[in-house]
Amino acid sequence: MSVLICGGAGYIGSHNVRAFTQHGDDVIVVDNLETGHKASVPEGIKFYEGDIRNAEVLDRIFTENKIEAVIHFCAYSLVGESVDKPLKYFNNNVGGMITLLEAMQRHNVMRIIFSSTAATYGEPKRIPILETDPTEPTNPYGESKRIMEKMMNWVSRRYDIRYVSLRYFNVAGAWHDGTIGEDHRNETHLIPLILQVPLGKRDHVTIYGDDYPTKDGTCIRDYIHVEDLAKAHILALEYLRSGGESNIFNLGSGDGYSVMEMITAARKVTGHEIPAKIGERRPGDPARLVADSTKAHDILHWKPEIVSMEDIIATAWKWHQSHPNGYAD
Ligand code: UDP
Repeated sequence: MSVLICGGAGYIGSHNVRAFTQHGDDVIVVDNLETGHKASVPEGIKFYEGDIRNAEVLDRIFTENKIEAVIHFCAYSLVGESVDKPLKYFNNNVGGMITLLEAMQRHNVMRIIFSSTAATYGEPKRIPILETDPTEPTNPYGESKRIMEKMMNWVSRRYDIRYVSLRYFNVAGAWHDGTIGEDHRNETHLIPLILQVPLGKRDHVTIYGDDYPTKDGTCIRDYIHVEDLAKAHILALEYLRSGGESNIFNLGSGDGYSVMEMITAARKVTGHEIPAKIGERRPGDPARLVADSTKAHDILHWKPEIVSMEDIIATAWKWHQSHPNGYAD
């Protein structure tokens, strides 16, 4: 039996491909390569280039292979773009989930691990955020992921399909050997943008607002290393394999770091002064997002291991230094 990783050529998907393979699972990847990179998929992994909104692609995969579980990463994930192009997000994210669940039901595939997000909560009512807190997304990206969770919930009540939805906070870093990492065409994430300065690609980093009600005025986020994140997916599948009920878990470290603290950590790691300028607030950014991940600790027995921001940034730095142009190198 194999594990199908949808979106396995993307940033988080590719790290999961490595982690599941090392764990001893037989991995198959499907990716439409719109934002993913074929070069991130290791030799020897069965790879289908195709879009999961195409039922024929899924029928072929589920017919040609014995799939035990689906790990689902296919989605657009840029908050700002989602506000500008909501239908693009609903079409791909929600539309992909419909064809995927339909195909799973047709082919009797009963387990799915889903890549969800802290954006399902919207503006948090309290910190740290618990899974039971209200979900009121403030952008179409978060809304699409919440709709996908709700779809899995209704489908799991009707059929035998069981799901685990993992609500990620800020995923960061790269595989420890620096061979795979983050490569987005339009980079919007803090750590890759900070590291573009020592790479010589920009002369400063802009801090989006320093007048938030936080210790140094800059936004606080909960960063977790992408390898720790991948381990949670393996544990979530083990949980379903051993009969666990459909469930939702936050994945974060429980500690918050400010944008300023991240820049300071990157200066230490790279030895570069990394000039920073204060800019406008980015619309829709909550001041603080920190997870309560007690439930994942208690039920999945998951605990992040790479918890120092310098250690997380050091892995990203290793990737970017050896691949200054990403997978184009
Ligand atoms: N941020 C920033 N400058 C940048 C990019 C991001 O100050 O060039 C801030 C952003 O406002 C947020 C934090 O860094 O508070 C993390 O942003 P990112 O886009 O990496 O992740 P998000 O929290 O939006 O998922």
